[in-house]
Amino acid sequence: MGKGFFNVPVAINEPVKSYAPGSPERDAVLKTYNTMWNSQIDVPMYINGNHITTGNTKTMSAPHDHQHVVGTYHLAEKSHVEEAISTALAARSEWAELPWEQRAGIFLKAAELIAGPYRAKINAATMIAQSKTVHQAEIDASCELIDFLRFNVQFMTDIYHEQPDSTSDAWNRLEYRPLEGFVYAVTPFNFTAIAANLPACMAMMGNVVVWKPSDSQIFSAKIIMDVFEEAGVPPGVINVVFGDPVMITDTVMDSPDFSGLHFTGSTYIFKELWKKIGNNIHNYKTYPRIVGETGGKDFIVAHKSANPKQVATAIIRGSFEFQGQKCSAASRAYIPSNIWDEVKSQVIEDVKSFKMGSPADLNNYITAVIHEGSFDKLAKFIDQAKADNDAEIIVGGNYDKSKGYFIEPTVIVASDPKYTTMCTELFGPVITIYVYDENKFSETLKLVDETSEYALTGAILSTDRYAIQEATKALQNCAGNFYINDKPTGAVVGQQPFGGARASGTNDKAGSALNLLRWVSPRMIKETFVTPTDYRYPFLGE
Ligand code: NAD
Repeated sequence: MGKGFFNVPVAINEPVKSYAPGSPERDAVLKTYNTMWNSQIDVPMYINGNHITTGNTKTMSAPHDHQHVVGTYHLAEKSHVEEAISTALAARSEWAELPWEQRAGIFLKAAELIAGPYRAKINAATMIAQSKTVHQAEIDASCELIDFLRFNVQFMTDIYHEQPDSTSDAWNRLEYRPLEGFVYAVTPFNFTAIAANLPACMAMMGNVVVWKPSDSQIFSAKIIMDVFEEAGVPPGVINVVFGDPVMITDTVMDSPDFSGLHFTGSTYIFKELWKKIGNNIHNYKTYPRIVGETGGKDFIVAHKSANPKQVATAIIRGSFEFQGQKCSAASRAYIPSNIWDEVKSQVIEDVKSFKMGSPADLNNYITAVIHEGSFDKLAKFIDQAKADNDAEIIVGGNYDKSKGYFIEPTVIVASDPKYTTMCTELFGPVITIYVYDENKFSETLKLVDETSEYALTGAILSTDRYAIQEATKALQNCAGNFYINDKPTGAVVGQQPFGGARASGTNDKAGSALNLLRWVSPRMIKETFVTPTDYRYPFLGE
């Protein structure tokens, strides 16, 4: 920092626009959607500020209309990944030395670009690439991403302000250095905001990055790169490569300069990457930081005192928005017998009222799941539930991939609390409910704790404070984000820092200073003003 202790703008959450009929934002996003839908883009890789095309391409389609091509992207050879690494390392010293306020300026500008001129584009691209409804696109690609960028700038300065005490004869200073080497971001399909934040927050702290987005999110990742370019991220600071994830990861992790992994995605893949890092540990110049936010089997527990309408609404919103493809989406619920009939009839009624189809039709609440692999997996579990004696589908259960990957929102009721869909992450619009004896609340809490390997999000609904306290205590290791009388989704940056433990991740809380701290290596500097000239301490005297 140069010549002043600069204050950054106070971060406030970006207001969510309504997209109500007649609103200007609705017109803008639909117009942009149509333009994007009716043209084709060619997405290059970004290495050292250059747009790299290889001629080896794949097409991109929307999950809700898989035969409609909206563009192509270019696949990396190993040499491109090596180039991304070497250009990142070449950019490192200038970027790491840049005063923090210059870095802050870039990312605050990126936030403002998304809030304004890029809002319709990034939302429309997310509607097309990930089949999000306009509301889901708005709260992800616009609001959450803007919040990540603005709040992280504020958290960065909070971190820099954390300084040790000093005395009159010695001044102690903590310098928050970026990691030595380069860092690697691997991002999932489901949130445009996460895709942008993982590389951006590391770069904000002075690191240089190789970023590999999900194949299913490249169409909206292109808009992120457009924003970063316009905001002035210098060449080489964030390099983007597409293609074979194993080849890219192996090349990255074979480099002795690899110094950190920022991953969001499934648990199995994260564990595989962790193993690779472990196998290479003797080759690295520094111990790589490993941050991963991974799978979940998120729960709703209702107490016998809960309001059935509130429970049903928490299930509906918590399980089915964005087709259940939020890592926080409720996918198992424990409902007491006394309120089950009422909860059941409202859940069935609500599910039957959903409209399903393209996100371009703003009447639709449900659209398609991300790809054929996900569709086939979900269809298999639904078929199994139809066949199994210990499971019953009470609503939904149909699927159709002739045009898009459409899975009807499905509610399974399991008589066995350890039924397969009570334990396995399906990542789709399917929730499994276990109805428990209303007088066995404590036993049920134990069941919730023991049923899944994950610990991401969970919710308790109750009007009884003793029950709320009991659940809060009994479930303390079952969720990194725990909700009382709410659905378990919808974490807001700056309000509910997000992340889970157990098999759900390293719990480094995206959207908080805790996460940013993983991307710095503090250097302690002690400066002594009057340096001793005699080794003898007073106690050695006569
Ligand atoms: P995924 O694991 O399939 O892919 C994530 C990323 O890993 C992608 O970029 C993918 O290309 C890459 N990848 C896949 N195989 C790889 C390999 N062998 N080596 C290296 N990289 C590889 O996950 P997804 O389907 O994109 O996202 C859904 C998953 O992400 C769910 O499990 C969900 O719970 C999780 N998720 C968690 C959070 C969280 O905060 N905990 C947030 C979003 C998503």
